[in-house]
Amino acid sequence: SHSFSDDYSVQKTNDDATHCKAAAVQLGYYKDEFLNRFITEDVIRRDPEINIGYWARVASISTAVDRFVLRHQGKCQIISLGCGFDTLYWRQKAAGKHVQKFVEVDFSSVTARKIKHIMKPGQPNLVEYFTEKPKDRQHADLHAGDYHLVGADIRQWNELETKLEACGIDANLPTLFLAECVFPYISVDATDKLLKELAEMFQCAVFLNYEQINVTDRFGKIMEENLEHRNVQLPGFAACVNEDTHIERFVRNGWKEVKVFDMNEVYNSVLNGETTRIEKIEKLDEMLLVRQLLLHYALVMAINDRRPTASAEEGN
Ligand code: SAM
Repeated sequence: SHSFSDDYSVQKTNDDATHCKAAAVQLGYYKDEFLNRFITEDVIRRDPEINIGYWARVASISTAVDRFVLRHQGKCQIISLGCGFDTLYWRQKAAGKHVQKFVEVDFSSVTARKIKHIMKPGQPNLVEYFTEKPKDRQHADLHAGDYHLVGADIRQWNELETKLEACGIDANLPTLFLAECVFPYISVDATDKLLKELAEMFQCAVFLNYEQINVTDRFGKIMEENLEHRNVQLPGFAACVNEDTHIERFVRNGWKEVKVFDMNEVYNSVLNGETTRIEKIEKLDEMLLVRQLLLHYALVMAINDRRPTASAEEGN
């Protein structure tokens, strides 16, 4: 089994995620004209259920982000923790969806590499999407108007807080936090600390956490072994996360409202309009493995709104 105790192997998980997403994009599961800018090696073909899993992951997160942005009419911020080479900022901008600030955070070694890809010549030009020319560019931090990419260890609150301040984050503006397959690499104590500090600092926040769930049961173990054979890395820490654990983690750190949706549920509801097209791409006739895989991932949504006018606004 895998060990993620050293930061280097954790950072490598981003390369795997990026490549899996690229494989799904290449087959037409979803469109992402920006992802290729972050890839330098050949993209290996994956099994259909892996492709569907990645499509469901990207589609459900962007749907949730869209709703948040629409609801606040862009007068909001997005902070992506453990962003890796994610292209959400560019996909949103290309679709005409703007927010006041989009901040991405990862280890410095990852953000430094991401900055190199952003700045290198080629099409599409990623820099053109920023509202300002990149300035104060250190090797691991990029500030460019509405877009910020900063290097920080999210287990170190002081470091993270300083970096968020350098981005000009407004703690009174509605803020969406994203953690896509990131918490499994962070200890329970460090996750607690992070969630607690964020809940205290931000007046109105939504946390979207995509990660594994229900992996202790027998099917979970089978899936895990199955996936391991296919070179899909599964994080070690997540082994005992069930729905209650997901909820408690947020609640005990000051988040008021927590909802957990397993991805099978999301597939059948939120993503329902596209599943017919998706299942045709590789002519999947056996859905069991897909169902099993989806069942072991969840979209967790936590809300914390301490604005004095929050309830009045809800009524409008
Ligand atoms: N969120 C991206 C996605 O879904 O495509 C990347 C996911 S990748 C599985 C996990 C990411 O979390 C990696 O980029 C890794 O470097 C980052 N990460 C893990 N621990 C971190 C930490 N303590 N501080 C900052 N980033 C971290």
